[in-house]
Amino acid sequence: MTAIAIEGRDPIRYDLVVRSRQTVLPEGTRPAAVAVSGPAIAAIADYAEPLAAARDVDLGGLALLPGLVDTHVHVNEPGRTEWEGFTTATRAAAAGGVTTICDMPLNSLPPTVSVAALADKRAAAASQCWVDVAFWGGAVPGNRDQLRPLHRAGVAGFKCFLIDSGVPEFAPLGAADLRSVLSSLAALDALLIVHAEDGAEVKAASGRDFGSFVASRPPVAERRAIEKVIGAAAATGARAHIVHLSAAECVAMIAGAKAAGIRLTAETCPHYLYFAAEQVPDGATEFKCCPPIRNAVNREALWRGLEAGVIDCVVSDHSPCPPELKASASGDFGAAWGGIASLQLGLSVVWTVARRRGRTLDDVARWMATAPARLAGLPAKGSLAVGCDADLVAFDPAETYVVDPARLLHRHPVTPYAGLTLTGRVRQAWLRGTALLDPESRAPDGEPGGRLLNRGRRGRNSLWTNNGSPICCACAGRSRRPATSSMPPRRT
Ligand SMILES: [Zn+2]
Repeated sequence: MTAIAIEGRDPIRYDLVVRSRQTVLPEGTRPAAVAVSGPAIAAIADYAEPLAAARDVDLGGLALLPGLVDTHVHVNEPGRTEWEGFTTATRAAAAGGVTTICDMPLNSLPPTVSVAALADKRAAAASQCWVDVAFWGGAVPGNRDQLRPLHRAGVAGFKCFLIDSGVPEFAPLGAADLRSVLSSLAALDALLIVHAEDGAEVKAASGRDFGSFVASRPPVAERRAIEKVIGAAAATGARAHIVHLSAAECVAMIAGAKAAGIRLTAETCPHYLYFAAEQVPDGATEFKCCPPIRNAVNREALWRGLEAGVIDCVVSDHSPCPPELKASASGDFGAAWGGIASLQLGLSVVWTVARRRGRTLDDVARWMATAPARLAGLPAKGSLAVGCDADLVAFDPAETYVVDPARLLHRHPVTPYAGLTLTGRVRQAWLRGTALLDPESRAPDGEPGGRLLNRGRRGRNSLWTNNGSPICCACAGRSRRPATSSMPPRRT
């Protein structure tokens, strides 16, 4: 292709241009062309603007979204690789339009509670990731001395439990521990993400009755735990985040804390926004997660909390396990592992309901890409803006499909979404400018090219890779205003 001249400069030529009449930009959706040089977005131009490029893709009416950022993924490798692994999890992510995941520190062995364990995790992940991967560290009793080194090593932040985590090697924090960890993290301006259920309010569950299981983990268990988090965050000035919020009665409390200036954020998950407890058949342990899916009134209130901006993000809590641990044969909710794996389906699940509610792709991109990227300190991710990584998703917002477990790419395709008709489907995804999916099968094709990411340094215009070399990013920092006009691309 012949290069063109702009404003008398040397001829320029992009590596890739992707055009869409529904390009989801930070300031809103409009027809536009995203021009890519190397791994980054070099320019945002008008849809029909002539641009010289090695490859020019016109999506027409298909939407172009920023690659999703899923900050709540349990990969489980090393140690419980038979549950899930980096290859299978990141292939499922790519097919679902998720171009960055943040791996949780527990369920792998060792858990990521020390710098040595983080090195083990990175070694396990190396060369087998189809999307970019960042890591959470763990805050457990007895690892206070590892918080600063892990923070320096680039973890996105720290995860803790306030209740039994389900695995013995990742113990919960007591109230005093929570305060003292938050105090340490405040000094680092590091984030603590919290599984907020209070064990004193949770009862043992058994049997096939889903209603009994839900009643065993009542909303008050979440409320009591979130009260503790808010109190500790207020006292220490630390940043705290509530993972997988299920009990909508907590939305008002979170809104109040935010209004009072407490540095609190919250996420919920696709399954809480899609399912209602009334629909769940007895014995259907594929629906088990903790905290549980609650009733339809609660679901409506969660949506309102999300739409009001009190809940900041929607992320998967992708947490698979072997089918035998899901207790599918007995249907016993007490015996079953709690976790729903939805990396590949989350975008469709959320869009299916969001569009019915009159929400837009801008909302979905904010909930599932921009806000999670900011949460995890990944300033080059989550936005179609000049200087950000060219992580792009071609999405057909009108295509419907029936969920076929045989097409799911995570290790064990147990799913409560089997047989459901969803609206909106990923057609292609690009990771730092490289197409990931075979156009026919829509599964990842070629070689895995994901990188292991460290948290971006706030105030610095760079992310730092595992080997310490910077990835240029012109839009770092929490207060960045993404540019939407052209900046000079690489010249050839
Ligand atoms: Zn989780």
